[in-house]
Amino acid sequence: MGWVDRWASQLLKLSPVEGREAGNGGWVGKSLAGCWPQLHQEVLCHRKRILEGPHDLEVADPDGQLQAIRLFRTDTGTGIGVLAPTGLQQGDHPLVGLFGGMFDAVQDALLITLAEPVASPGPVIVYTNATLMRETGFAQHELLGRSPRLFQGPGTDLSVTRRFGEKLTRWQNCEMEVLNFTREGQPIWIDLKVAPLADAEGWYTHWVSVQRDVSDRKAAELRLVEQALTDPLTGLLNRRGLLERLEASLARRPHHVGLIYFDIDRFKDVNDRYGHAVGDALLLEITQRMGAVLRRNDTIARLGGDEFVLLIDQMRHESDARQRAERLRSCLAEPWRHGEEEFNLSMSVGIAFSHTGTKLDPGQSGGAGLSAEELLRRADLTMYEVKASGRDGFAVYSIASDRRVQREVNLRQQVEHALRHDGLVLHGQPLVDLTSGAMLGAEALVRLQTPTAEIVSPDQFIPLAERSGLIVPIERWVMAQALHTLARWQAAGQPWSLAINISPQHLEQELLAEELLELRQWSGADLRGLTVEITETVLLQAHARAHHNLSLLHGAGVCIALDDFGTGYSSLSWLSQLPIDQVKIDRSIISHLVDVERTSNLVRGFVRVFQDLGLSVVAEGVETEAQRDALLAMGCPMGQGFLFGQPSSLDQAPWET
Ligand code: C2E
Ligand code: CA
Ligand code: CA
Repeated sequence: MGWVDRWASQLLKLSPVEGREAGNGGWVGKSLAGCWPQLHQEVLCHRKRILEGPHDLEVADPDGQLQAIRLFRTDTGTGIGVLAPTGLQQGDHPLVGLFGGMFDAVQDALLITLAEPVASPGPVIVYTNATLMRETGFAQHELLGRSPRLFQGPGTDLSVTRRFGEKLTRWQNCEMEVLNFTREGQPIWIDLKVAPLADAEGWYTHWVSVQRDVSDRKAAELRLVEQALTDPLTGLLNRRGLLERLEASLARRPHHVGLIYFDIDRFKDVNDRYGHAVGDALLLEITQRMGAVLRRNDTIARLGGDEFVLLIDQMRHESDARQRAERLRSCLAEPWRHGEEEFNLSMSVGIAFSHTGTKLDPGQSGGAGLSAEELLRRADLTMYEVKASGRDGFAVYSIASDRRVQREVNLRQQVEHALRHDGLVLHGQPLVDLTSGAMLGAEALVRLQTPTAEIVSPDQFIPLAERSGLIVPIERWVMAQALHTLARWQAAGQPWSLAINISPQHLEQELLAEELLELRQWSGADLRGLTVEITETVLLQAHARAHHNLSLLHGAGVCIALDDFGTGYSSLSWLSQLPIDQVKIDRSIISHLVDVERTSNLVRGFVRVFQDLGLSVVAEGVETEAQRDALLAMGCPMGQGFLFGQPSSLDQAPWET
């Protein structure tokens, strides 16, 4: 009797057959052919028919009483339900009609199954109310005898249903939100509550489940999640959205993912000059143009500002990404018009692949491939390097460039640490009278002292400080130290001058001159002992603020020196534009003074011209007696260089007073 499944007997036991419970209890585990042969015959006759739907019939029971029987298909065979004793129609018993009507009236879907089996294929459905049928689109006969698993579909999270099943096996009440599917395959989110029902003896006989359609709330939640993952301006994914997508790509094919990170060059200028509305329109135009370059498996994201990322999933060759980057660059290079204005854009692009250089940081990447964050960091860093080396180009990530950038980041941290924790020191290099050898003063040169007392030379950190803007706080510190030293010398009757270097960026600061004048008040130094050294690059920027600062300082008695003369543009236009008092001829020229005749003629000529113009002249980097003699013969009065002294701490001899 294998095809008559075990629920048949349970159904019999549990169906409302008056006066049958005791007898039915005795049937459990017995063959149907043995205890109710007539029904067994009917089942055999109808087992094909019930494949199309339940079949109702009347069969006399072993006592000769007619019973209404429903035969229906179950997930493992045939179910047999005894509906009600013949003669007891709906409505005859007031409660039967009342409960049926009541359950159909509730707004939640109700479903009752037998208690077992909890495991596959699941307990069979013995009752559904009208709401459930309306919501799922199934007719009752399609549900009876089937298991609720019939509502599951492709999007159902099986890990959730498995946890749910585990609770059921412990006969606990359970609740979950699950994605179900209607008869037509439409997804519906269900808040599902299930409770076991026990009979008078305490045996669990049924599960009652109450299901509420929460699709609307779920849809709203999904919209919120989507919003959290997209950029409101362009509708592209944002950083979070990209990282999620990237993680999924890396999990699927860890060694076939490419990231193209790109940033529009000088986008800030557009924003600053034309306002944010124009900037936004430009970003939308860029988004649209990029769409033309995309392929089916590509994802594009905007990480904020003018930074975009193209994720290439299932990349076959590195050349795919390179070509894509080139196409992106050329499609953006088409001029863009807005009103009367025409913009020519370029971009800096960094490319990183998931299959290269995974050994760089074994802690993070290991053999399992790169994390999404790491891949994004690499593409970003590569883009940053392209920017730093002149923009408008693309590069592919390499461990060497990573190390360069990491060194730069470390150095920046060191500078920031030094600024916060008194880690800068000021050295002075003697400035001497070439004729008498007398010391005239010093040039203040900053150094960085690491926590392990290593000294880092300014050549290493000043260029970085200039790029990152840290030069301004560094030079503020230098100014304060220098004025303090100068005041100390002056108080001790020492007539030395002290020179400080001021970078072009600092010279642009609105309040530079005012700050220096304030420091004068604070220190009591006479500014006629101070020299400010600037370079010709100031002329390139030629902003009014730098000129304003220089005139203020010049007016306050500060000597303004043009540093590194001979290395820059030497257009001599500074002569008419800037209030210069002194010129320092660069070491690169002085070093060829003795052996290259043209150089010595050049220096001789400059020394004469500058002196005729009333400028004082200093030769930098004097290392030999021969150089000093040559300079003296040319009439150059002052010099600086290792011949006279290396830079040394301004707190110590010979600067101590
Ligand atoms: P600089 O202003 O041209 O300073 C002179 C540099 O040449 C110093 O290097 C000095 O030690 C070196 N020097 C002097 N005499 C000789 C010599 O005879 N032979 C050789 N080979 N070198 C000599 P230092 O101290 O390493 O400074 C390097 C650069 O760092 C400076 O060049 C200056 O541009 C920059 N710097 C230092 N302090 C500051 C600062 O406070 N602000 C700014 N903006 N730059 C600074
Ligand atoms: Ca200098
Ligand atoms: Ca110099």
